[in-house]
Formats: sequence, structure tokens, C-alpha cells
Amino acid sequence: MNLDIMIQTYRQIFQRNPEIETRAPGRVNLIGEHTDYNDGFVLPVDIDRAIWIYASGRNDTLVRAHSLDYGQTTSFDTDRVERDDNAVWSNYIRGVIAEYRKRGDRIRGMDLLVSGNVPIGSGLSSSAALEVATAETCRVLSGLTIDPVALALLSQSAERQFVGVQCGIMDQFVSTLGRESAALFLDCRDLSYQWVPLPTEACIVICDSRKQRSLQTSEYNERRAECEGAVAVLNQALGNIRALRDVTLEQLEDNKHLMPEMRYRRARHVVTENQRVLSAVQALQDGDLPQFGRLMYDSHASLRDDYEVSCRELDILVEVAAPLPGTLGARMTGAGFGGCTVNLVACDAVEDFQAGVIEKYQAKTDLRPLVYVSRPANGVTHRRLQ
Ligand code: ADP
Ligand code: MG
Repeated sequence: MNLDIMIQTYRQIFQRNPEIETRAPGRVNLIGEHTDYNDGFVLPVDIDRAIWIYASGRNDTLVRAHSLDYGQTTSFDTDRVERDDNAVWSNYIRGVIAEYRKRGDRIRGMDLLVSGNVPIGSGLSSSAALEVATAETCRVLSGLTIDPVALALLSQSAERQFVGVQCGIMDQFVSTLGRESAALFLDCRDLSYQWVPLPTEACIVICDSRKQRSLQTSEYNERRAECEGAVAVLNQALGNIRALRDVTLEQLEDNKHLMPEMRYRRARHVVTENQRVLSAVQALQDGDLPQFGRLMYDSHASLRDDYEVSCRELDILVEVAAPLPGTLGARMTGAGFGGCTVNLVACDAVEDFQAGVIEKYQAKTDLRPLVYVSRPANGVTHRRLQ
């Protein structure tokens, strides 16, 4: 990102200087897939790609927002926030302001310039980055009191209520609270969290399969329903089961005869995946990256065989990555049926890894993957420019 150009562009568009710069990152989940809606554990990290907002307050309630990436300006009043289907990107900004207004906060007018380098719609959560950057910009310019967890929840509500995407809390949470050089271990049940340092010799490499995702929403809803079905049966048998989070593998095995085989396998993924997140945190604390990597491969196998949300392209991306020198672990990340894999790779082997994955994946699929290399980055930050 060329931030100097953003400042110059800001001056040209708004005929004034920006007061603050806010940056909120995209993210990738290292392990803990399809566990969030089962009250389980996740382990995301922020990536070094972000949304930037340059902003100045106004003495009225008008918001003027310009998107550099969409080349579009839109404006609205903070006291009457409505959706704008001609500037869909602005709905994430509008939604955040609408959520602040619901809390009773007064939001000053602002002149905003937005741009970013989180790939859009690739599952790296450019949407959460935009919401969190907006929420932080409003907080600073309107002098609001809101703690980081509440800011993440407000950003999530904006996406759920205003944009209409029923997302979990992970993305906004880590975009707000993530820390450089660490993964964020989050309990999706009570939002307790802990930073777990990642060794500096490991790089995060994201490979975008470029496979068009299909059937994602319907399959996602079906998986959720299967999990709920398993919980109902297990609760009847065992009592005190609110979510698959409350079930041990032993309890599940003992009661597998109570459910169809497929439902049992869906539940087994969630139960074992939660356990893998706990083991992965332990592996990081022990400095055991090879063990962490093995858990990533196990996670992929479970998503492929038990949860059945992988696809040929994601399986190939993992298969071609695994034998490359320096690869510690690889697995699909996100909802599945396309999208990205996340890989943990020794930093000194990253360039060869990138070349190897591109060549081998392309040979097998005729698709050219996009590869993003990142170190774990900080959550949202702002700085005053004047
Ligand atoms: P993702 O997986 O990246 O979160 P989503 O579909 O949830 O994909 O969110 C993408 C949307 O977020 C875009 O369609 C756009 O409306 C908004 N957005 C993302 N990045 C930017 C950006 N750089 N500038 C303006 N809007 C953005
Ligand atoms: Mg999103």
C-alpha cells in the first residue's frame, strides 16, 4: 500500500488534511474450522494485509466516504443511516455507524478515504477489516468509550444486522485484538482469549485455489443442522450438552449407535477439531512446530473425510505443499468447497515453496493459485497525523 498516495488523494478529494490513519488487518485461521458455531475453539492470526482509513471529523453529522478501490464516493447522515445498494462497500461503514447509534453514541460527521490490500472475497475477511477500521475511526474521532471486545462485537453486529451476513465473531475479534508475532486462541463460547506467540522462523503462507466456491451456503447450513441434531441426541442421552463443545470423543463413541453414521462423522470432526486446537496451542507453547504442523494435516483430513467440506482443488493444494522442503503443515481454511489453504512454512524456504506450489498445482488443475506470504500482524491501530 502506498500510504503517501492515499494522503495526497485525500487532500485532492476533500480539500483538507486527514487527522488520523486507521489500519485493521485481514486474518487467517490456523486451526479450528467449523468449530465456532459449535461453541468451540479457534486459533486465527492477523495477516500483514489490511484496510486503511484516512479520516477527519466534521462539525456536522455528514459522512462523506470515498473508496479508492471502487472509485466511488457516497455520503449520508449519521442520524439517518440507510443501506446503499449502489455502493455496497459503504454498507459495512454505514452498518458500524448504525450500531453505534443503537448504543446511543453520538457520531460526528467525517470525511473518509478507504483503501486496502486484503484480497476481496477470498476468505481473508476484508469485510471484518473494513468494519473494525470504521469502528476504530469512529471511536477516535467521536471520543467514544468502548472496550476492544465490545468494538469487535459491534463490528460483527454491523455485518449481521446491516449487511445481512450471519458471520461468527472470530474475524472481527482477531482484527481488533490480534497481536504481532502471535496467534489468538479464542473460546467462541465465552470469548475468553489468550495470545500464543508464534516462533519467528515460521511464516504463514496462504494459497488461494481460485476454485469458484459453489454450494457453500446450503452445505454450510446442512452442516450446522447436523451438528444441532447430534447435540439434541447426545443431550437426551447424557444431559448437560448444549453444544458439541461439551462432548468428549469417548462420549461420542459410546453413543454413536444413536445417530446415522454421517451425523456421527460430522460430530466427530467438531469434537476432534476442538481437541486439535487445544493440542496446537500446547505445541506452540512447547515450541514444537512439527507437532503443530501434524495437527494441521490432521485437521485437513478430518474436514475432507468426516466433515466433507473440502474439494479436489483444496486437497491437491495440501498434497503438493506437504513434500516441499520447509513445509511444516497445510490445511484448507474457511468454510470450504473452494477458497484457500493455510500453510506453515519455514521462512527461509518460502520462495521455493511458492514456486513449487504454483507449478505443481497448475500442472494438476490448470488453475494458477494466488500465494500470499505473511507474518502475524497487529490488530487494529490508529495514529494521529497532525
Ligand atoms: P471477505 O472474505 O473478503 O470478507 P466478503 O464478501 O465478506 O469477503 O466482503 C467483501 C466486501 O467487503 C466487498 O465486496 C466490499 O463491499 C467490502 N470491502 C472489502 N475490501 C474493501 C476495500 N478495499 N474497499 C472497499 N470495500 C471493501
Ligand atoms: Mg467477510
